Amino acid sequence: MPRQAEPSFRESTNIMFNNAVDLLDLPPGLVEKIRVCNATYTVRFGVRLRGDIHTFTGYRSVHSEHMEPVKGGIRYAMSVNQDEVEALAALMTYKCALVEAPFGGSKGGLCIDPREWEEDELERITRRFAYELAKRDLIHPSQNVPAPDMGTGEREMAWIADQYARMNTTDINSRACVTGKPISGGGIQGRTEATGRGVQYALQEFFRHPEDVKAAGLSGTLDGKRVIVQGLGNVGYHAAKFLSETDGCKVVGVLEYNGCVVNEDGIDIEALKQHLIAHGSPDGFAGGTIHPADAPILEMDADILVPAAMEGVINLNNADRIKTPLIIEAANGPVTSGADEILRKKGCVIIPDMYANAGGVTVSYFEWVKNLSHIRFGRMQRRQEEERHRLLIDELEVVTGQKLSDTFKQRYLHGAGELELVRSGLEDTMRGAYQDMRKVWHERDDVHDLRTAAYLVSINKVADSYRAKGL
Ligand code: NAD
Repeated sequence: MPRQAEPSFRESTNIMFNNAVDLLDLPPGLVEKIRVCNATYTVRFGVRLRGDIHTFTGYRSVHSEHMEPVKGGIRYAMSVNQDEVEALAALMTYKCALVEAPFGGSKGGLCIDPREWEEDELERITRRFAYELAKRDLIHPSQNVPAPDMGTGEREMAWIADQYARMNTTDINSRACVTGKPISGGGIQGRTEATGRGVQYALQEFFRHPEDVKAAGLSGTLDGKRVIVQGLGNVGYHAAKFLSETDGCKVVGVLEYNGCVVNEDGIDIEALKQHLIAHGSPDGFAGGTIHPADAPILEMDADILVPAAMEGVINLNNADRIKTPLIIEAANGPVTSGADEILRKKGCVIIPDMYANAGGVTVSYFEWVKNLSHIRFGRMQRRQEEERHRLLIDELEVVTGQKLSDTFKQRYLHGAGELELVRSGLEDTMRGAYQDMRKVWHERDDVHDLRTAAYLVSINKVADSYRAKGL
């Protein structure tokens, strides 16, 4: 059958936005102001590599400056284009508003296949890209703060931070120009795992509400749920690892761009990840049956589908064959607007991207605050907190004449360090935002899905910001 044509990623995002905004009573002018992308910069630059000059094309799109700095990742992929960065920048606006991270929305990308270049070459390319963006204030602690996305990670963020610092030698806040840095370069504990951890917290919160679980045709808790994960990169790996290691989920299928693994008894995620790092593909992995990349593993029967690779993978061509009753959009835009409609009609519940993968920007917010305050979270209060707990325990033992168990004492006395505080802040954010969404989902008769509910919550917040500015 010929493939069905679909709107572009940006058009698809706009369709979903329009469906939601129609339910709000906002002046059309304000709606238009919120929807449009404020600016998209294209930069082309040359880098001398392997004896030749190579020209690269990169983008930085600023969707909304209702709050500044604007925030959003930088993606390295050959598929990067203006339409894609604009869609992703818009999603950042709504995502930040939904989880109350005080940023506008932005996104960047470089057309490059990072696998084709050596590390030192990638460093030169990244530094040059960072230079082009920084000299236009498109990287700046108070104006535009990038983060990792597909194809980039701590390493690239460290190069960007260093490049910015070299260009702004007297800026004491230079480390806050980018987030997702390694700890040694001003990063924060828990940032690398944050998006996957957020997916875990989102699912945990979903399963705390039996009414919502029932809406997806499921029952019980996360324990024993069969899960399919697409993309075992930063987000997919951490989500799959946490769900299988701590929530009792069974990851029965993993899809990568060059092969898939299926195992009804549950895939050992850490073992598969180590295999992928060592061999580059699932071929030869002994912990499951290996299938070609185009095998219909997304359409396998399971409870939860976690698309964590890229946009548009669930579309008009496969939506009606998707069997999982619950989809959590760990990637940005994995379900197209057309597929969203088909799935909703089938009764499938979709936990939308702007919420599901907001863990990354939430912890990026904590990292930015840490960089601006120049002190690690918990540094001042940790020992004092332990001391106060010790006082209470000692007194309790004296008054009751009973000894408390060592395990209890150890757990109670342990003051929170940075990682515990980050996880606490992230969990609180994910739980709170879910509750905001579900309230709209259940209380409004004209809202039938979580995506529309998420848009309503976030558009209202962005609209309030614009109104407060007098626009
Ligand atoms: P990544 O580059 O670390 O991982 C992507 C993974 O998907 C890789 O393992 C890649 O091989 C795989 N992949 C690529 N194409 C595929 C295909 N067609 N089929 C199956 N697998 C494929 O990227 P990431 O940072 O994990 O980002 C993944 C998604 O999550 C993106 O949509 C990104 O925008 C979104 N996201 C990432 C973050 C973050 O903090 N990194 C935050 C929010 C959202």
